[in-house]
Amino acid sequence: EVTKHKKPDWLKIRLHNNEGYSQVAHIVREHGLHTICSSGRCPNQAECWSRRTATFMILGEICTRSCKFCATASGKPLPPDSDEPRKLARSVSLMGLKHCVITSVDRDDLPDGGASHWAASVRSVRESNPDTTIEVLIPDFDGKEELIDIVLASAPDIVGHNIETVERLTPQVRSRAKYGVSLNVLKHIAGRGATAKSGLMLGLGESEAEVLATMDDLLENGCRILTIGQYLRPTLKHLPVAQYVTPEKFAWYKEEALRRGFTYVESGPMVRSSYMAERAMQRCREE
Ligand code: SF4
Ligand code: SF4
Repeated sequence: EVTKHKKPDWLKIRLHNNEGYSQVAHIVREHGLHTICSSGRCPNQAECWSRRTATFMILGEICTRSCKFCATASGKPLPPDSDEPRKLARSVSLMGLKHCVITSVDRDDLPDGGASHWAASVRSVRESNPDTTIEVLIPDFDGKEELIDIVLASAPDIVGHNIETVERLTPQVRSRAKYGVSLNVLKHIAGRGATAKSGLMLGLGESEAEVLATMDDLLENGCRILTIGQYLRPTLKHLPVAQYVTPEKFAWYKEEALRRGFTYVESGPMVRSSYMAERAMQRCREE
């Protein structure tokens, strides 16, 4: 069911260096924007960019936290770029995106955690792209509901917050975030009537029972969309991979998650929180 040590064949990255890919790369570069696709060294970058989908990372490239699984640089961030919402909206237009995903680094240095910049970004994208659905993947804002509400007031179509791993491993894997706080963030999102989404990484040493318990915790707190993917070690300074979960096992988790009550699930070795996000959006609209 699981293999150890050697990276299995199903994780080999296929390159799609076609025209769509170069166009997206050009637009992103020209506007001085950051994508989590690049900063997070996402294995789907070539595939998603050639389908002209990208996940933008706002509020800079430097995070105030330093989670043990994440490739984003940590340190003292630069002040937010007040022109970023406009540049973001323009990029979404140029790329002709139907569904746009926005995420950010954590900004524990800012008094509002970056919430007002978040809201301005969502509003700006919507104003220039009224037909584009908008998904946000937000930090925990230290669990401060009044800050989450600032983002929710901009009315994104889907609001994600990743639980990342099972409860037992959270202190080792995430730097400041807490399992219970993340569940409360999701509960608050769902309580405000927004569609709540979360993501889980496997291969950090969690058991099957712990994964299933996490699914139940998410469901109990109103989360309806779930992504499950394989943890890959970005550098030797990051946590080692405890196991490579097989594609068959990922498929089993998907069935199990749907059976338990999720509306939409993506589960596979290469799945990341924004992978196939537009499909989740369509599915929720059909509901
Ligand atoms: Fe970017 Fe998300 Fe695709 Fe990864 S899965 S390349 S982060 S859009
Ligand atoms: Fe990476 Fe987010 Fe952790 Fe920052 S808070 S290190 S961006 S996972």
